[in-house]
Amino acid sequence: MSAISLDQLRAAVRNIPDFPQSGIQFKDITPVLGDAVLFSALIDHVAAPYRPGDVDVVVGIDARGFILAAATAYRLQAAFAPVRKKGKLPYQTLEQSYDLEYGSNTVAMHADAIRTGQRILLVDDLLATGGTAGASASLIERLGGRIIEAVFFIELAFLNGRSKLQGFPVRTLVAF
Ligand code: AMP
Repeated sequence: MSAISLDQLRAAVRNIPDFPQSGIQFKDITPVLGDAVLFSALIDHVAAPYRPGDVDVVVGIDARGFILAAATAYRLQAAFAPVRKKGKLPYQTLEQSYDLEYGSNTVAMHADAIRTGQRILLVDDLLATGGTAGASASLIERLGGRIIEAVFFIELAFLNGRSKLQGFPVRTLVAF
């Protein structure tokens, strides 16, 4: 286990009020990524329950999720697969839409990103309303993946994103 505590990681997250719009408290993780010791500790914490061989594919969510998921995949000697916003992936895709407060969003995965029965770790930087992760989980399940866990560095607990993530364990490292 890492010598760096979750409290130390939490303290390094920078809060940016009113970004990208008024009323949003943006959680900026670049101070964690920009510190070699903290970044490595963050990946240690994400990967801690697992050993190489436990996970087949780490799925990361566009865009900060890619950073954590790719490093975790390397650490666990697993494959990496991206969930991207609709229209960005070049090959055949499966798409999943989800509702926002106003309108909707669509995420996509490559049709061959996951094989039936593969053990999937879903990773993103932050769980807010859970819409993005919920749609990502649906894509993984439609592709035949078995989600062993969804893990997030940060949880905005007051938004109750966990309610959109059911049927598999959800772990968050720090909450605000
Ligand atoms: P949601 O679908 O509402 O759970 O939103 C999750 C996605 O939006 C994640 O990929 C986050 O990177 C991003 N996000 C949402 N709210 C914030 C926030 N306050 N600070 C930083 N990123 C956020």
